[in-house]
Order: sequence, then structure tokens, then C-alpha cells
Amino acid sequence: MLNVGSLNNGFVLDHIEAGKAMEIYHYLGLDKLDCCVAIIKNAKSNKMGKKDIIKIDGGLDVVDLDILGFIDHNITVNIIKDGVIAEKKSLSLPKTITNVIKCKNPRCISSIEQELKQIFVLTDEEKQVYRCKYCEEKYSL
Ligand SMILES: [Zn+2]
Repeated sequence: MLNVGSLNNGFVLDHIEAGKAMEIYHYLGLDKLDCCVAIIKNAKSNKMGKKDIIKIDGGLDVVDLDILGFIDHNITVNIIKDGVIAEKKSLSLPKTITNVIKCKNPRCISSIEQELKQIFVLTDEEKQVYRCKYCEEKYSL
């Protein structure tokens, strides 16, 4: 059972691969938030041996679950209400991701036209392959 400590209302990102918490912290822009964020590194896990956990005191709307699903869809999102786990959400790979990763093809229109959005589309769910919407350049996780 996950100990949510003093968190009354907020959410917990559980089962983060050990050592990945800071990467996720930056990807989600948690450093820009006013709310209280706790990072737990190398917590014991029966399933994974070691894991990282991030606790966030605030609404789920402060993070982009698509980005989270893209980084690691094995993360579990626990929603805490009145100090107990009210809901568990599992993540899936988003069909498209916008402005998270950049196309590496120097001749791609999105590399030339800086105002274009960087859009990648999931083309192979099993192999987790994303391709640039404009030039189909492959992005590997
Ligand atoms: Zn491209």
C-alpha cells in the first residue's frame, strides 16, 4: 500500500523507473508550478525492486498526461482525495504528441519553418514508433 503521507488532495505518480523522476519533473514543467511537489527516489517496490515516486499537491490538470504517457506509459497515476486513493489511472501511448520532441531531419519543413508545431504521430504502437507528421522521420524512444 502506497503511503501518501500528508497529501490530502492531489496525485501521485507511482512506478516511475528508478532514476527517472527528475527527467519527468522537467518534462512536465513541475519546476514552474506553485504547488507542493515531493520526489521520492529509490523507494522499495515489489514489482520493480526500486522505483521513484512523485507526489503533487494539486489538481490533475497541472500535468499533461499525454506527455507522461509518451515518456513512460508504465507509470501509474493515483488520484488522492481526502487522504485516500480515490482513483487509479493507467497511461497509454498518445496517438500524437505536439511540441515535446523535435524532428532531427534538417530538411524537414518543421526545422525550416520555426513557427510550425512539432507534431509526431504514433505509427507502430507495439514498437512504440513515432514519426514526424511532415517528413515521416522516425523518432525512437
Ligand atoms: Zn520532420
